[in-house]
Amino acid sequence: MARVDKAPRFSAEEAVRRASELYGLDAVASPLPSERDQNFHLRDAAGARFVLKIANQEESPAVLDLQNSLLNFLGAHPTGLEFPRVVPASGGSTIASVTGSDGVKYFVRLLTWVDGICMAQAAPHSVQLLRSLGAALARMDRALESFSHPAAHRAFHWDLRQAGLARAHLDLLPEERRGLIEPIFDAWATIDWSALRAGVIYNDANDYNILVDASGSRVVSLVDFGDVVHSATVCDLAIALAYAMLDKPDPIAAAAEVGAAYHHGRPLTAPEVEALYTLAATRLASSVCYAAWQAAQAPGNDYLNISNQPAWTLIERLAALPPDWPNEVFRRVCGFSRGGRTAASLGAARRHTLGPSLSLSYRHPLHIIRGWKQHLYDATGRVYLDCVNNVAHVGHSHPRVVEAAARQMALLNTNTRYLHEHLTGYIERLTATLPEPLRVAFLVTSGSEANELALRLARAHTGGNQVVVVDAAYHGNTNALVEISPYKFNGPGGRGKPAHVHVAQMPDVYRGPHRGPGAGARYAESVADAAGHAADQATGLAAFFCESALGCGGQIILPPGYLKKAFAAVRATGGVTIADEVQTGFGRAGSHFWMFETQDAVPDIVTMGKPIGNGHPMGAVVTTAEIAASFSNGMEYFNTFGGNPVSCAVGLAVLDVIRDEALRENALSTGEFLLAGLRALAARHPIIGDVRGLGLFLGFELVRDPATREPAAAEASALVDRMKDLGVLLSTDGPFHNVIKIKPPMVFSRADAGMLLDRLDAALS
Ligand code: PMP
Repeated sequence: MARVDKAPRFSAEEAVRRASELYGLDAVASPLPSERDQNFHLRDAAGARFVLKIANQEESPAVLDLQNSLLNFLGAHPTGLEFPRVVPASGGSTIASVTGSDGVKYFVRLLTWVDGICMAQAAPHSVQLLRSLGAALARMDRALESFSHPAAHRAFHWDLRQAGLARAHLDLLPEERRGLIEPIFDAWATIDWSALRAGVIYNDANDYNILVDASGSRVVSLVDFGDVVHSATVCDLAIALAYAMLDKPDPIAAAAEVGAAYHHGRPLTAPEVEALYTLAATRLASSVCYAAWQAAQAPGNDYLNISNQPAWTLIERLAALPPDWPNEVFRRVCGFSRGGRTAASLGAARRHTLGPSLSLSYRHPLHIIRGWKQHLYDATGRVYLDCVNNVAHVGHSHPRVVEAAARQMALLNTNTRYLHEHLTGYIERLTATLPEPLRVAFLVTSGSEANELALRLARAHTGGNQVVVVDAAYHGNTNALVEISPYKFNGPGGRGKPAHVHVAQMPDVYRGPHRGPGAGARYAESVADAAGHAADQATGLAAFFCESALGCGGQIILPPGYLKKAFAAVRATGGVTIADEVQTGFGRAGSHFWMFETQDAVPDIVTMGKPIGNGHPMGAVVTTAEIAASFSNGMEYFNTFGGNPVSCAVGLAVLDVIRDEALRENALSTGEFLLAGLRALAARHPIIGDVRGLGLFLGFELVRDPATREPAAAEASALVDRMKDLGVLLSTDGPFHNVIKIKPPMVFSRADAGMLLDRLDAALS
């Protein structure tokens, strides 16, 4: 490593004098930044500009000749880039020498100046610029395929093949950071270098060496050829990727743009694609290791560590990605992935082959191929913060859930007519989360099946047939449930309210008739009225179905006192109370494991779905021993898949993760933070008419006018689309489609909430 303390130390006046003596230039000089060498910007009387390069005293003339030859070579090839030209000294030599006041001899070169803005200062980088970078590097690397020079075959610490030299400084890093870097070097150690094409490479496409045009959309030049070496050619691209990812909110998407453009101009081989990400990460790892080493040489020079902050931030961001995800993205964008149908062709095929009664989300539908924790990843490599997926409760693809399913799948999967530890164990764990007397469970495979069964239980227990539901509710997709779901029977294609169904008012304290204290009791009167009316019918009241917070109704939090009073009224008329916790259960409320508990009320039946299996199709009904006994009339309830050992293993893993990762507690603290942030946003953006939420079940309502509360549906859907473009997934709900719902995986962090709020602020502004 050329030592920094062997760098030349000429003054600007000396530089001017040498330029005159050696090159006959009458110029003014100003110093340029350089670590190992010394560079001066020169401008002569005619305005011509140059760089005077005085090399480190340890630099060999052969390497300087390598650099000159390479510049001459590239200058003579049609790369579409402008490279500095080598200007010979008056005597004709392209490498001159000077003796400094320290008595040491230094080599000197003069290069022409190339105009441009360095890429580091052209941020934010457009997709166009990233593609231009990939294309420019590909053109240069293609040209370099026919270049050779003996001095390029050198042992050089910035050659990624030599990253072991950087790794040797690992113990200079603080221990908590070592854990981030070690896996990178471990992956590097597995690279089969013989499988990678080799040649002379530029080896330093960092964002300070890349020059872009004034519009910031095109790469015009690459400068500083001091790191040129004979190595694996894919390292040129890998190094560019390392820097292109810096300071990017979505680094892999940025790298994918550069990589795809490079591959288009100079196709990569399969082994190169496999090595690409590891090499890019190795460059970052080497940088932080060398910086730590330099800092150790110059204690007190905090700059050396501070300047590495963007690299550390990126390394942390990359460490949070799903395993192997960057490689999968590079495989895809370079055409090495199986099943790589485009979004457009999938969309077209879907239109002909999937029942058309289901719309896709977003104007430009997403093609999601990976989920990890609270993020979803699309086929182009973009990451999205998932703020609506309450099914992936403990996080997308949680390893403990995946492992539990895979392990049990390999052992046994059968039905519940056999004894099984998982079945009994799971029911014990599940019912233990509920208050007495909810102690008897039925295991099913969806929220709809759970509600369907709950309805049968209620009818069996009461002998009644009538049902009371809350307006705008959705309880499932079966015949019987569509009939008790106003969201469906009053919606497009619906057949209207059946005679056996009685609809109570939505307890909406923002839009409904009752607001303020006492509203809960007033809305409960609507349930009492409906129940009374139902009880008067020939067949009597079977059940009152109520979500413990209203989802399709528009993320409505039940007002205090509502359920307790409503349940009492229903029981007084002989009905059974059913809490639909399909959306709201398993700790989402934050303060309690079940949302109904926030109402200080206990239902007769609880139905569960969505989060119960973290995406594995599961549902459950838990009720009292009495109701279960009423249902046991000789007709067996058999469910082929419900309660199978795999599902129970999954259900147990979900309960374990909720407990071990304190996800209910997280829902409470993150939810409160988010609620406060949304309220602060509402204070600044009058289009937000109302903000509400409990734990990580939140919503805000958009209105055209705060006074009239006219729903702003088109604005809500535009906001959702805009947020998708900003990398955040949300969706709308509510009878007027103007409520933005937020119900993310429960691993949603305070940082995620901060990002959501920032981007909402930007989108609303
Ligand atoms: N109840 C509620 C409150 C729901 O939100 C849903 C699904 N959106 C269901 C029941 C039906 O669940 P599934 O789609 O699993 O059948």
